[in-house]
Amino acid sequence: MSSASELRVDLGAINENLRIAGERAAGRAVLAAVKADAYGHGLVEVSRSIQEAGTAQWLGVALVSEGRQLRAAGITLPVLKFTLTCPDELADALEAQLVLTVADQPGIDAVAAAAASAGLVAPVHLKVDTGMRRIGAEPGDAVALARRVAENEHLALDGLYTHLPVSDVPDGVDFTRDQLALFESVAADVRAAVGPVPWVHAANSGAVLGHDLGSTNLVRPGIMVYGSYPDPETPHTRELRPVERWTARVAFVKQVRAGESVGYGRTWTAPRDTWVATVGIGYGDGYSRLLSNRGRMLVGGRSYPVVGRVCMDQTMLDLGPDSGGVSAGDEAVLVGRDGGEEIRTAEIAELMGTIPYEVTCLVTSRVPRRYVG
Ligand SMILES: *Cc1c(COP(=O)(O)O)cnc(C)c1O
Repeated sequence: MSSASELRVDLGAINENLRIAGERAAGRAVLAAVKADAYGHGLVEVSRSIQEAGTAQWLGVALVSEGRQLRAAGITLPVLKFTLTCPDELADALEAQLVLTVADQPGIDAVAAAAASAGLVAPVHLKVDTGMRRIGAEPGDAVALARRVAENEHLALDGLYTHLPVSDVPDGVDFTRDQLALFESVAADVRAAVGPVPWVHAANSGAVLGHDLGSTNLVRPGIMVYGSYPDPETPHTRELRPVERWTARVAFVKQVRAGESVGYGRTWTAPRDTWVATVGIGYGDGYSRLLSNRGRMLVGGRSYPVVGRVCMDQTMLDLGPDSGGVSAGDEAVLVGRDGGEEIRTAEIAELMGTIPYEVTCLVTSRVPRRYVG
């Protein structure tokens, strides 16, 4: 029996969620966002499973190093790098056959120069900013930039895309609809100027779940692949399969008397005689200190509150006056199902004042990932 924490990742559930995205996308191709270690689930293992299952036709990363890891692991799917690439990284990026994002003339020229010196034709996707205000060309510049790509013998305009900041919430419906309409007109202008563009895409998870995707032919789901909705208010148009089971072990159980405090800062005082379990998990594992006196864990199918501050390696639970029969060595479930109880990453995110994306990204490398399904 392992005494350490473990994050179990259900690859079957990931592929099922991708199938759901594919159904929602109604015939469009699917790009699975696997940046940031597949949102904390394991870049290579998740990507390999997706490639074997054939549930996505593309992968999406943020860094050249992520793309290189995929190639080193033998992943052959096309990989889009969402972010812009520094000139000094271009040679490595092209060697890894990453499809690069471009958004302005200097960026296009830099990729063209790197492609020329590598003696190849680099496929690029032109990013258009329709309202995210992060990266992307102004819509009015898109045609000129598309021409610049199309006219360069070392570049191929493989894609045109945009990003949607509020596709996941009811309040954002109008803004998103306007963005998609603007993007449609930019895409039409670009096609008229340079001919057909193989891949035209806009939809993140929020848009896959809640929007009409027009003439786009590729979708880019991330968080829904990992079983979470981007926001508590996102329409649950499809039920997603939970992917994670995060566990740790109870290390110690003892009685605490009424009036005694527990943990650093003495932030919790027992209101009555009670039993307290110490679990081998802490913020050093990515169980956020923001869960101090707020989180809960499941042991033996029952829910117990976190009491006192989450420490780096250990966290305390109030078991109540009868100790719940919990003893050292028992499994504590941080995320997942136990008996009739379940904790989803969305619940933890809400307690932390963040989004489910961050909950799994925070799980540190000292928590081994184990793959099932
Ligand atoms: C991360 C990312 C996505 C996926 O977004 P989700 O909200 O996780 O579905 C899609 N497109 C781009 C450009 C991204 O950076």
